[in-house]
Amino acid sequence: MATVSTGLELRDLSHRFAERMVVDHLNLSIAPGEICCLLGPSGCGKTTTLRIVAGLESIQSGTVSLDGEVIASPGHELPPERRRIGMVFPDYALFPPLPVQENVAFGLQRQRDREARALGLLQRLHVDHLASQFPHRLSGGEQQRVALARALAPEPRAMLLDEPFANLDARLRAEVRDDTLAMLQGQGTATLMVTHDPAEALRMADRLAIMQNGKLEQIGPPDEVFSHPANRFCAEFLSEFSVLEGQCEAAGEVVAGPFRLSATAETPGSRLDVLVRPEALCFRAGPGEAGAKVVRVRNLGPMILIDDKVGPEEVPVRGHWGDARRPRAGDLVGATLVPEKVFVFARKTP
Ligand code: ATP
Repeated sequence: MATVSTGLELRDLSHRFAERMVVDHLNLSIAPGEICCLLGPSGCGKTTTLRIVAGLESIQSGTVSLDGEVIASPGHELPPERRRIGMVFPDYALFPPLPVQENVAFGLQRQRDREARALGLLQRLHVDHLASQFPHRLSGGEQQRVALARALAPEPRAMLLDEPFANLDARLRAEVRDDTLAMLQGQGTATLMVTHDPAEALRMADRLAIMQNGKLEQIGPPDEVFSHPANRFCAEFLSEFSVLEGQCEAAGEVVAGPFRLSATAETPGSRLDVLVRPEALCFRAGPGEAGAKVVRVRNLGPMILIDDKVGPEEVPVRGHWGDARRPRAGDLVGATLVPEKVFVFARKTP
């Protein structure tokens, strides 16, 4: 029977360890060729979700389907090797007695060109010089790339990646990551990738899924999730930020330190937290909306972040530098807020 490629679907997935709900009614569909990044704080249930989909953890409630076929539901579980799902988990699980190339070719038993294909993947991941080595002789980053090659080799219908580039230095990481994800997109593999790096997820994902306490808080394209976070947790999770204490003074008008902005939903008198990401606050030489004093300058590639003290009460707040001449600690500068890039929430009670 021919199968139709519809991708990977997790429906109403829940999982408990003892009494604790670790995955809580999770719904997620990933289309063929789509890269979905799963992000969330440590312990929120990301790895457990991947392990259930892979068949390494027995499913308790809900269903997992691949290309329309149910591969896991309570009482019906295909063994991991029959799911047509590739996986790279932090333990790599390479076969110790097999040389690297044999590890990669292992899943291609019936293919005539298995050795050549294995070598080709090792080349793309820059580890072909290790083809005849045994896994225990390899560094963590080398083992990680061999595990990636092995998972990619059979062109699986779905791929599960748990921090798959974590052990690589920044330059190699970018190259291996871009190449791997392009291969997965090109061969129409539905990919679910766990990463702890929001910047990487924002750059690489077709869709982001943000998880907290076993529940998905928001799913959507990176731009949408970044610019329109569903709640405070999502806004805080995706980038660094400073908080200015604010107050709604008149209907729709919020005062936060030296700044005024509009926030139509707020009622007069309510005490607010105004979340300011560095790109929402621009410091320049000369006057701005408010005066500020540079406390510290940090160089982060194209953006210079400066810690500043804004307003008469001297609130520390981080923004970016918008002038050519680099500022120095102690400089008096102007600060301007980009109102559409700040987020207003009810004050958090400590
Ligand atoms: P991290 O980002 O740190 O890898 P995670 O989001 O992947 O975390 P999980 O590994 O899914 O989180 O774990 C979710 C929770 O379930 C954690 O509190 C963890 O301690 C617990 N847990 C995981 N596996 C088991 C197990 N086999 N038995 C009992 N509790 C477990």
